[in-house]
Amino acid sequence: MPEATDSELMGKLVSLCKRRGFIFQSSEIYGGINGFWDYGPLGVELKRNVKEYWWRCMTREREDVVELDASIILHPQVWAASGHTSTFSDPMVDCKKCQGRFRADQLEEEACLEKPSKSVAACDAEKTEPRAFNLMFKTWLGPVESEENAAWLRPETAQAIFAQFKNVLDVSRQKLPFGICQIGKAFRNEINPRNYTFRSREFEQMELEYFIKPDAVSAAGEPSSEGEGEAQSRPEDWGWKEWHRYWVDQRMAWYRNIGLPEQQLKLHWQTGDELAHYAQATVDIMYRFPFGWQELEGIAARGDFDLRQHQQHSGKSLEFFDADTRQKYLPQVIEPSAGVDRLVLALLCQAYGEEMIPNAQGKPERRIVMKFHPRMAPCKVGVFPLNKNRPPLVAKAKAIHDRLKDRYLTAFDLTGSIGKRYARHDEIGTPFGVTVDFDTVGDGESDHLKDTVTVRDRDTTQQTRVPIAELESWLAEKLA
Ligand code: ATP
Repeated sequence: MPEATDSELMGKLVSLCKRRGFIFQSSEIYGGINGFWDYGPLGVELKRNVKEYWWRCMTREREDVVELDASIILHPQVWAASGHTSTFSDPMVDCKKCQGRFRADQLEEEACLEKPSKSVAACDAEKTEPRAFNLMFKTWLGPVESEENAAWLRPETAQAIFAQFKNVLDVSRQKLPFGICQIGKAFRNEINPRNYTFRSREFEQMELEYFIKPDAVSAAGEPSSEGEGEAQSRPEDWGWKEWHRYWVDQRMAWYRNIGLPEQQLKLHWQTGDELAHYAQATVDIMYRFPFGWQELEGIAARGDFDLRQHQQHSGKSLEFFDADTRQKYLPQVIEPSAGVDRLVLALLCQAYGEEMIPNAQGKPERRIVMKFHPRMAPCKVGVFPLNKNRPPLVAKAKAIHDRLKDRYLTAFDLTGSIGKRYARHDEIGTPFGVTVDFDTVGDGESDHLKDTVTVRDRDTTQQTRVPIAELESWLAEKLA
């Protein structure tokens, strides 16, 4: 079957996402609103699976990471201290001919408003000089719209973690290294939202701030017996470079564990102008989307910049008291910061496939199949009575569905031929289809098949006969 081009693939994916209820344009009945998206029933489940697995790996399974759920609007001083009020901006130019506004650093990728087949860079109309456009959404607290009452929707979740560092430290009795993580909404008034949900104005982040000893306090600051620059072997002795590497490796492994293959991922080490002035190092985890390699997550070694800034602006000490060395110091930070929506989009792109498979008569038939990793698949199991007009089949299937639905998102589907039901579930990526047939209820040709069901594997289309009594453990193993 001929491969779809990348832009065809995006078109097909967007249409499937709407048709099957993954993603809708926000406020669609009013013509939509640029940069905002709504997740439909299956999109919500996919997104929850992403967030829950991140939460499980980043905090539940670790003893050194605790949680925070902070407000979206913070004291305006937070953004002054972090530098967002003055510098969280993109360079913008106006086209004097079509009046379009574009990101000055993306003119090659932006389409001209009058001739969308041309890039803005290729259009010779006169443009203004680039000027800084602040990406934070501004609002006012209370009834008076004055500058004293100005506030901002958070453009990232991280700063609330720094602002609450002391409170969380006091209650969690952690020693360094330890982390605080958070999942939540962030808002950026992007000049040109695009590539579907990839660059949105409202999105969710999953962020960890991992606080470590400064190198001068850990053994990393001392000459190593293994030679300068080499990794220290004991985590207690690690400096920021080792911890940074540790989190890059952890996060890459995490992406592989949810079904993004090695060859679709790469690391981009920021250099020169890309690197924020305070960052010791930043690595972006990139995924190969149909529209090119793009960032999924940034992992930054931020030094003590944020805590130092908040300490200075608030006048409150944010130092950590190290009971072992009896020293007080500001910890340094490693920050893995990922976007939920971008990851959901990557999973959708990765899962989408079209292939020919034999139908019930053995003739080749085209199918669309979403090959989500079972861990991420929104609906885990479909339960199908072979014939909806046979009450014993329906009752048995219903009983199986009722048992499974406590544990997994399980669909009960009666309508259409069994082939149609398989096809429907292939399109939403349900990993397993459980069919209750005449043999299951003892009306079939083989007595030994009573109380067994057929389980169909979405990817191979292979069918396996499984005893009902073993079905839950069989599925548990495959869906772990
Ligand atoms: P980009 O360079 O693509 O604008 P960024 O480097 O500004 O991204 P960060 O500030 O590092 O992004 O934010 C961390 C993560 O938040 C990103 O890796 C991305 O997954 C997500 N993210 C940032 N901006 C957006 C957006 N406009 N829409 C969706 N997700 C976003």
